[in-house]
Amino acid sequence: MRASRISSWAVIGLGLSLIGCGPGGTGARSREGAAAATDRGDAVASRLGPHARVLGTVQDGGLPHAACSCERCQSARRDPSRQRWIASLALVLPASERSYLIDATPDLRDQLLRLREASGTPTGRVDRAPVDGIFLTHAHIGHYLGLAFLGYEAVHASRLPVIATPRMAAFLRANGPWSQLVRLENIALQELPPGDARSLGEGVSIAALAAPHRDEFADTVGFLVSGPRRRLLYLPDTDSWAAWETPITEILRAVDVALLDGTFFSLDELPGRSIETIGHPLIPETMNRLQELVDAGRLEVHFTHLNHSNPALDPDGQARRQIEERGFRVLAEGTALPL
Ligand SMILES: [Zn+2]
Ligand SMILES: [Zn+2]
Ligand SMILES: [Zn+2]
Repeated sequence: MRASRISSWAVIGLGLSLIGCGPGGTGARSREGAAAATDRGDAVASRLGPHARVLGTVQDGGLPHAACSCERCQSARRDPSRQRWIASLALVLPASERSYLIDATPDLRDQLLRLREASGTPTGRVDRAPVDGIFLTHAHIGHYLGLAFLGYEAVHASRLPVIATPRMAAFLRANGPWSQLVRLENIALQELPPGDARSLGEGVSIAALAAPHRDEFADTVGFLVSGPRRRLLYLPDTDSWAAWETPITEILRAVDVALLDGTFFSLDELPGRSIETIGHPLIPETMNRLQELVDAGRLEVHFTHLNHSNPALDPDGQARRQIEERGFRVLAEGTALPL
């Protein structure tokens, strides 16, 4: 079913125009205005230079959400073009032919394929090094369960770098099945403490930014990615902005494009829950905080990690319109963001 989801990329930012047009192949389905570039992946990637590619945009439970029969999930089951993968971002460095993932989701199988289709040539066998490294935000199911596919039963990777905070790395080392990935050297854990940065080459560096979130097993980070042209913040999961010691507006002053936690739009999505207990900023609250930066043209904001209950998932709905009228966007799978 997922095969009908085409490999297509829309380019946003730096005044670059949309690359490619029309469907990518037989049965292909154009999604959210993205343009197909399957057979031109290499050419497109090298023209873009270092960039981030959006591989997924919904909350850990997916869309359709596990075991949910709400109207939005049912409609996604009927129409695959409405399905979305769990939030994930690839960092692509075309000149050195390297790519990295931020988070390993339960949708990893499809996401690796999509990355491969857009930027590489199929080799006709299992690629045991499908990416050059995976950066992890935290230990919630949507963000690291995909690591399991790197093990003996599937990719059987060899010392694939997995970069995490010291707490997250210790959790993986100490608990099965992740400990087996370490013991069999499918993955090689590397520690990146919050606040530290590492260079990926081609003028791109990545730093971990500590984020308040419910941290049952490990801590949580977002990632600040600096490229030769732009700085991007990827922050799919955070508690409300009030929980941040440094105000988010201050952090974002040095950022050009922010992909932010858009889990919920409204309290109506969580009957019986109060704003204090939901553990995420509501989209309108985030817009209120960031409106000035957006209006001044100093910041581009895309919401990601949307819960299946979020009305902003509906492309023609009122919530989406409200977001776009205020100059914000809902992140679309397939978007390429120059760095
Ligand atoms: Zn999450
Ligand atoms: Zn649902
Ligand atoms: Zn989480």
